[in-house]
Amino acid sequence: MISGVRMVMLGRQGAGKGTQAVRLARHYVVPHISTGDMLRAAVKEGTEFGLRAKEVMDAGGLVSDEIMIGVVDDRLHQTDTTRRGYVLDGFPRTQPQAEALDEIAGERPLHLVVNLAVPVEVVVERISSRRQCETCDTIYSVQEPPKYPWHCDNCGGDVVQRDDDTEEAIMRRLELYEKETSPLIDYYEKRSLLEEVDGLGSTDEVSRRLMSAIDKRLAG
Ligand code: AMP
Repeated sequence: MISGVRMVMLGRQGAGKGTQAVRLARHYVVPHISTGDMLRAAVKEGTEFGLRAKEVMDAGGLVSDEIMIGVVDDRLHQTDTTRRGYVLDGFPRTQPQAEALDEIAGERPLHLVVNLAVPVEVVVERISSRRQCETCDTIYSVQEPPKYPWHCDNCGGDVVQRDDDTEEAIMRRLELYEKETSPLIDYYEKRSLLEEVDGLGSTDEVSRRLMSAIDKRLAG
């Protein structure tokens, strides 16, 4: 019987976090919590909050820590996550978010944090060819399109390029990643929670590497 897991996926934009997080969540039977997907859902709903978030996202910026911490705090207190665990994708992205996560997790601390390592030249190439379903967020690429272009294999929704996957926004997001998020690698290394996993290779290969790192931790 596969047990649940509580984990964070770190890695540059385009490292394959989203794709791998979905697979891991299915395998370990835990919710996949993507703060980017949650924000995109709010944008689609057209709420006041969604409209403000869209401006920040399209410019490649970061939504405020206060808002993001509130969103994740609510989500991690729902029973599916408290019972089973979670794969957290896109959070934390800053030091204050990481500190808040320690508090939110409280008595149910993280088992591990994975850094999915892919060089910057490779991610720029990957992001420009990335496509995503507008309805269910499934990720595709120009190299691996849906069966009937460009309609999602899962739900038939339109598969498009993300509004924040423009060259300018990509560069800004990568800069912010180096400045705000990459210091978290050290933060989790010091807490002996970090597993570095090579994100190059086929999707299946990377999944196998991730699962083997996670299983070792869980056997711990
Ligand atoms: P992602 O899908 O993870 O690349 O997120 C898309 C965009 O949503 C990011 O470029 C940010 O603008 C925003 N976002 C997602 N997660 C966070 C977070 N934890 N903190 C701040 N902004 C976030």
